[in-house]
Amino acid sequence: MNRILIAEDEAPIANLLLAALQEEYSCVWASDGAKAADLLEAENFDLVLLDIMLPKINGYELLDYCKSLDVPVIFLTAKGELEDRVKGLRLGAEDYITKPFQIMELMARVETVLRRCGKTGRVLQLPPDIEIDTASHVVYKLGEPVALTAKEYDLLLLFVQNKNIALYRDRIYERVWGEEFMGDTRTVDLHIQRMRKKLGLENRLVAVYKVGYRLEA
Ligand code: CA
Repeated sequence: MNRILIAEDEAPIANLLLAALQEEYSCVWASDGAKAADLLEAENFDLVLLDIMLPKINGYELLDYCKSLDVPVIFLTAKGELEDRVKGLRLGAEDYITKPFQIMELMARVETVLRRCGKTGRVLQLPPDIEIDTASHVVYKLGEPVALTAKEYDLLLLFVQNKNIALYRDRIYERVWGEEFMGDTRTVDLHIQRMRKKLGLENRLVAVYKVGYRLEA
């Protein structure tokens, strides 16, 4: 699932965006520019919906940061701010959406930008040897399918979508098992050990002391 950062200080607009996008995308909301920059530094996103007039760090400054991280940006502009739109596109935003916006138009533009920027590919890569076909849920190592259980597949996907980020055991459990973590770390450890053995990831999916695990890529 593609991950979208929504950088927007007006809660009603952010809530509208979240409501529209959450069915199809994994969304995170930042209510000011500094929070958005922190999230961009800590996590991987496929797209940023970026308000121009943001507290602390404005949208133009954040655009530069997004470009340095190779994350595409759609600007959110208030109606009539034509100069902002032109400036935004000239500075390297992929597109812009005028507030107030139609949900259908928003969804179409998001999808177009993700596709144009090569973010919608149904095959996720974990170089140099692993590919995940997210449509068929088949994982390949050096072109050969590897039989994973449903939980092992979900775990792999979670790590590939959060490369180089240390994930806490409780968060891993809640994301993959879909229920609240009750403190049984064995379950997480066992499934991860089996999955990384099947895929030969012992040296790359590493335990992080007192935290959980991190996939190094
Ligand atoms: Ca604003």
